[in-house]
Amino acid sequence: MNYDVIVIGGGHAGIEASLAPARMGVKTLMVTILAEQIGASSCNPAIGGLAKGHLVKELDAMGGEMALATDATGIQFRILNGSKGPAVRGSRAQIDMDRYRIYMKNVILNTPNLDVKQEIVEALIIEDNKVLGVETQLGNRYMAKKVIIASGTFLNGLIHIGEKKQQAGRQGEFASVKLAEYLRGLGIEIGRLKTGTCARIDGSSIDFSVMEVQGGDENPTPFSFRTNRESFNPTQLPCHVTYTNEDTHHIIESNFYRAPMFSGQIEGMGPRYCPSIEDKINRFRDRPRHQIFVEPQTLEANEYYINGMSTSLPTDVQLSMIRSVKGMESAKIVRYGYAIEYDYVQPTELKHTLETKKIEGLYCAGQINGTTGYEEAASQGMMAGINAGLSVKGEEPLVLGRHEAYIGVLIDDLVTKGTKEPYRMFTSRSEYRLLLREDNADRRLYRYGEKLGLLDEEYLAKVKQKERDIAEAVIYLKENFVTPTKEFIEKLLSLDEEKINDKVSLLDLLARASMSSEKIIALVPEFKKYSDEVVEQILIEAKYSRYIDKQKNQVDKMKNMLNVKIPEGFEFSKVSGLSNEIIEKLEDIMPPTLFNASEISGVTPAALEILHIYIKMAQKAR
Ligand SMILES: Cc1cc2nc3c(=O)[nH]c(=O)nc-3n(C[C@H](O)[C@H](O)[C@H](O)COP(=O)(O)OP(=O)(O)OC[C@H]3O[C@@H](n4cnc5c(N)ncnc54)[C@H](O)[C@@H]3O)c2cc1C
Repeated sequence: MNYDVIVIGGGHAGIEASLAPARMGVKTLMVTILAEQIGASSCNPAIGGLAKGHLVKELDAMGGEMALATDATGIQFRILNGSKGPAVRGSRAQIDMDRYRIYMKNVILNTPNLDVKQEIVEALIIEDNKVLGVETQLGNRYMAKKVIIASGTFLNGLIHIGEKKQQAGRQGEFASVKLAEYLRGLGIEIGRLKTGTCARIDGSSIDFSVMEVQGGDENPTPFSFRTNRESFNPTQLPCHVTYTNEDTHHIIESNFYRAPMFSGQIEGMGPRYCPSIEDKINRFRDRPRHQIFVEPQTLEANEYYINGMSTSLPTDVQLSMIRSVKGMESAKIVRYGYAIEYDYVQPTELKHTLETKKIEGLYCAGQINGTTGYEEAASQGMMAGINAGLSVKGEEPLVLGRHEAYIGVLIDDLVTKGTKEPYRMFTSRSEYRLLLREDNADRRLYRYGEKLGLLDEEYLAKVKQKERDIAEAVIYLKENFVTPTKEFIEKLLSLDEEKINDKVSLLDLLARASMSSEKIIALVPEFKKYSDEVVEQILIEAKYSRYIDKQKNQVDKMKNMLNVKIPEGFEFSKVSGLSNEIIEKLEDIMPPTLFNASEISGVTPAALEILHIYIKMAQKAR
C-alpha cells in the first residue's frame, strides 16, 4: 500500500501528526500498537496547566484537535493564576480519560485521507538515507514519502515496580523493542530517560468527607477558540486535596533500600519537575507534608488518580503509604504506580521541521524527542505532521519563531540545545511572555491554520472580525482624550477610580491596574458594540501596551539581527564569550548569516548576540 505520510503511534503526538497532513489533503496512515488506546493518557487525567495551556491554545489556533477534545470530554475546568497577569494564566481541565480516547478515535476514523492499522512497526524501509516506508510484525510493508515516529515511552520500554521489572511501553502494552534496535542501528544518537505514575484507587474505598474540596471555575471557559463560549456548560466534578504526614514519610524512608530509584535499578534520568514521592521525601526531608490531589479519571467509573504520589516502590509499600494518608485509610488499589525507562532520540538529531538530519523524510515527534507531557507531544506532532504534509506538496516548511509561539520555543530549545532530562514547558522559557499569551493565541496563529487549510471559514470570519474590532478600538483609545471636567471626575469616582488632573488619552486611562471590562464599558459606552472577548483583549492591550510595544521592538531587533551576514573568513575563535563547542560547530559549518548560525544545535540566543556585536565591530574597523 502506498501513502504520502505514515505516522507510527496513536498517542497525543501521533494524533495531531496524522490529522494535520490528512486535513491538508495528504494521504496518511496511522500505525499503532492498540487501536483501542488511540488518545490514551498514560498518566494524569488532565490537559493544560501553566504554559501547557498555552501550547494547547496554540495548537487549537492552527486547527489542532486537543482543545476541542478537551472541551467535549472535560469534567472540570479551571484557569490557574487567574488573579495574576494574563501572560502567566494557564487553562487546565480534568478530562474523562475514557471519553477522550473514544472522541479521538472517532475523529481519526472519520477523517478523510486517513487510514489506521493496528500493527507494530519493527523496521523502516530506507534507501540511500531516504525513508521509503515501514515494515510491521505481520510482515506487511507500507510505503510512504514521509514517516513520522511518535512512539512515546514505548521504545525499549522497561517498567519498574519495586524489584520487579517488565518490558512494556505502558503498563499492559507491548514495548517497541525491534524498532528501538533498528533506530540504534541507524547511528542516530539515542539516550535513556525515565518517568513514572501513581497508583489508581477505587473511589468507593476513599473517604472524601475528610478532604478539602477543589471545584472547577463557576463560569468555565472552554479551551478551544472554536467552542461556543455562551453555550459551554460542562458537567464539573470536584477534585479533593489531602496530605502526606509523618507516618507516610516514615514508611517511604524505611523502604528506600527497595526503591528502584535509589537501588541503581533505574538508570534513566527522570523529570526534575515532576518527582516521585520517594524522591520528594528524599530531597525535601524537612517538609512535614506534601499535597495530594485526588482527581477523578472519568465521569462514570469510580477510579481516582492520586496526583503527587507517583512511585515505583514495591506494591506492599505502595499500599501502606497510601493507607497512611487522611481519607485513604481503607484505600483499595486498582492499578499500582510504576516507573518506566525508555529510549529517546537526542533532539539535536533533528531540524527545526522535526525531520531527522541523517535520514531524509524521517521525522520524530513527542516523548521520543525527550519531552514529557501530552501538550508538548501534541505540539510537536502537529508541527511534524504539517511539515511532512508541506514537503509532500513541495511547499516551503513552517517553522514557528520563538517570538510567535511557545511551540516555536519548545522546538527551538529541543533542536538547538538537546536535552538530558525530560523537557517540559514553562512560561519562563519564553523571552516574549507578554506577546505569547493564551488569550491571543488565536490572533497570533490563525493565519497559518488558514494557509494550511486547517480552519473552517465560519471560524476564520469570526477571528478576523475580532482582530479588526481590537485594532479599531486601540486606535480609538490612542486618538481620543479625556479632560478633568467635573462631570468626568464624578464618573471616575463613581467607578472607584482616582480622578485625573490633566488631559490623558483613553489608552493611558485604561492602562490603570484597577481597570476592568465593566469600567471600560462605563467609560467608553461606544465599546458596548463589541463582544466580551474583544473587550477583554482591549483591556489587556491597554494595560500592557507599553510593555507589549517594548517586546515587539525586541522581536524586530532580533529579526534584523538574524538577517546580518557573517563575513567570509570570519574568525569565530577570536570571539571571546563563545564556548569551545560553539566555536567548533561554527567553524565546521561556516554559516553565511546569523539566522543560519541560530539553526545550529547549541548556538544560543546569547551566543548570537555576542557574534552580532563582533561582526558589527569588525565592520566598523574596516
Ligand atoms: C508511566 C508514565 C508516566 C508519565 N508521567 C507523566 C507525568 O507525570 N507528566 C507528564 O506530563 N507526562 C507524563 N507521562 C508522559 C505522557 O504520557 C507523554 O508525554 C505523552 O503521552 C507522550 O505522547 P506521545 O504521543 O509522544 O506518546 P504516547 O502517548 O506514549 O503514545 C505512543 C504511541 O506510539 C505507539 N507505538 C509505539 N511504538 C510503536 C510501534 N513500533 N509501532 C506502532 N505503534 C507504536 C503506541 O501504541 C502509542 O499509541 C508519563 C508517561 C508514562 C508512560
